[in-house]
Parts: sequence; structure tokens; C-alpha cells
Amino acid sequence: TASSSDLIRATLFPGDGIGPEIADSVKQVFKAAEVPIEWEEHYVGNEIDPRTQSFLTWESLESVRKNKVGLKGPMATPIGKGHRSLNLTLRKELNLYANVRPCYSLPGYKTRYDDVDLITIRENTEGEYSGLEHQCCREVAEKYPEIKYEEVVIDNCCMMLVKNPALFDVLVMPNLYGDIISDLCAGLIGGLGLTPSCNIGEGGIALAEAVHGSAPDIAGKNLANPTALMLSAVTMLRHLELHDKADRIQNAILNTIAEGKYRTADLGGSSSTTDFTKAIIDHL
Ligand code: ATP
Ligand code: MG
Repeated sequence: TASSSDLIRATLFPGDGIGPEIADSVKQVFKAAEVPIEWEEHYVGNEIDPRTQSFLTWESLESVRKNKVGLKGPMATPIGKGHRSLNLTLRKELNLYANVRPCYSLPGYKTRYDDVDLITIRENTEGEYSGLEHQCCREVAEKYPEIKYEEVVIDNCCMMLVKNPALFDVLVMPNLYGDIISDLCAGLIGGLGLTPSCNIGEGGIALAEAVHGSAPDIAGKNLANPTALMLSAVTMLRHLELHDKADRIQNAILNTIAEGKYRTADLGGSSSTTDFTKAIIDHL
């Protein structure tokens, strides 16, 4: 066992809705796999912190800035005026400009397609959601002629994706399209309970989070699928180059789903979040 000086500190936001339940699954699996990470947990406050002008505390932002790695559960912005969206505040304050969203068919879980393997890169801080639009993809593409660059109009892209998702390897998307297209891609492989992401930002910050939201319809019922957040945590391990631990956890998740004995309701099973988590730990 590692002494505390060997441990890597990472920020954890359990978040809202199903967030605390699925964050708990990640903590359990990481513990069982003896991942050398010490979580620094931060919760969203009950009132506006004047230093961030949002419900996010200044301390929690400082924690991410210091640790440079973290895992974030879904955050629901309280309805009402006078404060910024929590997700937008995090992205803006930490300049998390790119959200990398891998999406691949899971072996043993049958959907209409069995050969999806693509990554959506969603621009995270500009675009339609924040009133900042200008494009710079072409300039960057010219610098990398070894990467084949193609432009597709969004409506046509949607048609191509549902017709043959194997046509695509990487989709580089502005903010709004990236949000929509990655939900579409999640649907191709079995839904929002499965797709991870990692926000990459200024100064090498990596803040992993599931693509899905806080799922208030199933919150607190022990029904949520923790796969998306766990696979997000795996992207964080890869960022830290802890590849052995990442492989071990990813394989345990994929093998549990492939085996089919324990699956959550979104995948047509009847396992609770905690039973599914236990099955993953058994597969480690
Ligand atoms: P947001 O505005 O935050 O994106 P949303 O309204 O798009 O939220 P989500 O919270 O992403 O909604 O949920 C959409 C649907 O997918 C809901 O029916 C929810 O129950 C389901 N869902 C989302 N995440 C999971 C999960 N991890 N496990 C099971 N079902 C999920
Ligand atoms: Mg959504």
C-alpha cells in the first residue's frame, strides 16, 4: 500500500442528482483497484460565492487549479435568475476549452451498430452557448496535412452518422453541435449511461466528466448506470499515465457489461447501481 506521499491528489465534485451515487461507485472501484489517488472532495455551495459569482466555491476552483486533475459529476444549475450556469462557470473560470468525448461500441451489448468507434471533440467555451462564434479549424488543419480533414454540414453529418457511423473517426464540433452530436453518438452505442468525456484546459488541466446530466428522474433510487462516470475516471488515469490501472478498470467494466449478468435498467437489466458496481469490483 502506498504511503500518503505517493498519492496523487485529484479534485472530486460528486455533483447533483445521480452524481453522488455514481461518484461513490467510482470511489469504491478505485479503492478496490488500489489506484494511488487521494480525492479532494468539493461540493457545490448553497449560496452564491461572491468570488466566483456562482454556487461554485472559490476553494473548489483553486483545488482544480492546484491539482490539475479531477473528476466531476453532473451539476444542475438551480432555476432562477442572477447566477451563472455551474458548468459554464467551471469551463470559463478554468478555461476548459476542449471536451473530448470518445464513443465506441461495447462488445456484447447489442445495438443497431457494432462498429462505432469515434471521438467527438466539443469546443467548450465559445460558440452559440456563449455568444462567441468564429471558426479556426481550417488554419490548424493546414498545419497537419497527415490528418485527413473534411468539412461536413451539420444536417448532412446527422444523416451520415445514423446511416453509417463507421465513416467517422474524429468529429471536431463547435459548442452547441458538439452537445447535440455527442448525445446522438451515445444513442448509437446504448445511451447516455455509457459515454465518458474529459475536459482539457489551460495549463494542462484535465477535468473528466460524464456526458450526461444529473438525471433527476432516477436520482436517489440506486438506478443510475455509473459506467459513463467510471470511464471518465479512466480517461483521467490515462492522462496521469496510470495505464495499468486504467486498463484493469476499463476491462472490468467492459467484461461486466459483456457478461450480461449485471446490467442497469438503461441497458435493459435489473441491477441496482450498487450491485453493478460490486460486479465490476468482482471482475477486477
Ligand atoms: P442536461 O441538461 O444536464 O444535459 P438532460 O435533461 O439532457 O440534462 P440527462 O440528465 O442527461 O438530461 O438525462 C437524460 C436521460 O438519460 C434521462 O432520462 C436520464 O434518466 C437518462 N440518464 C442520464 N444519465 C444516466 C445514467 N448514468 N444512467 C441511467 N440513465 C441516465
Ligand atoms: Mg443533455
